[in-house]
Amino acid sequence: MTELGMGSGAHRAVVEFKKIREGHVGLFATHHIANGDVAVALSGRNLQTPTRFSVQIGDGRHADKDGLVEHTNHSCTPSTFLDLSDPKAPRLRALRDIALGDEITFDYCACEEDMSTPFDCECGADRCYGTIKGYRYLTPDQRERLGDRASPWLAAKYAEQEMIPDISPSVEAAPISARAV
Ligand SMILES: [Zn+2]
Repeated sequence: MTELGMGSGAHRAVVEFKKIREGHVGLFATHHIANGDVAVALSGRNLQTPTRFSVQIGDGRHADKDGLVEHTNHSCTPSTFLDLSDPKAPRLRALRDIALGDEITFDYCACEEDMSTPFDCECGADRCYGTIKGYRYLTPDQRERLGDRASPWLAAKYAEQEMIPDISPSVEAAPISARAV
């Protein structure tokens, strides 16, 4: 077990790091976590670009240096999702009852738009994405299946893109005098 160095004290009691195999750690429940409860409260600094260990909390907003989330593994059938309902307090919230010893995972594709370090998933789920690259690479069906687990800002951004035809040529052609000053 690794001492959790950062974040609020609230989640210290319910999760811990464990080594899964050489070079791989994960986050595991040390208590029962009920469906809907907060498993991990994220903290850390805001970044404008993603890193291998950051988690995306908005358009061009990433949280880093949390000390917890960087070891929370991806799963295509995760035990938690990133709850951004309070933008100032992002949390991993249980999607089901999590038993003592269960791994805390979340679906990176539900919250990361375009990952800095894509990787091949080995979760073995029926609907495994295969390569984990981010929300922008998901099919409409995969986005549909995410439902409320997808970060609201991402779902809204891509729903808008699907509805509105590409108008960028006329925007680029706007005369300089038309720019807002
Ligand atoms: Zn998978």
